[in-house]
Amino acid sequence: MTDTLFTKIINREIAADIVYEDDLCLAFKDINPHAPLHILVIPKKPIEKISDASKSERDLLGHLFLVAGDIAKEQGYGEAFRLVVNNGEDAGQTVFHLHIHILAGRDFNWPPG
Ligand code: 5GP
Repeated sequence: MTDTLFTKIINREIAADIVYEDDLCLAFKDINPHAPLHILVIPKKPIEKISDASKSERDLLGHLFLVAGDIAKEQGYGEAFRLVVNNGEDAGQTVFHLHIHILAGRDFNWPPG
């Protein structure tokens, strides 16, 4: 499988503004932010999308959400942030390496567009 853009960021082949890293995941600022805070949390394991994840990845998926919450808190948005996961092209996914968007620092509409 060809490395995704995000695998290249993990491998430092493409530069990114990294805000957090551990053995399971990486978090970095979105290159085209849609809110004052817009960070992506990705697993180091190249899962294409959430609908491809399996039960064996349950702990990893939980870890990604806990890290996302911790990052929002560290960045000063602990009580007011939105997490978004686009799944599949028709739902707006453009990079096929699972990622959680952390968005904060502005008002959000509901339902989302
Ligand atoms: P998606 O549309 O797949 O849910 O989100 C992909 C996100 O990746 C978009 O918000 C887009 O701005 C971001 N992105 C695409 N290419 C790069 C890149 O090279 N660096 C960074 N930091 N973000 C990127």
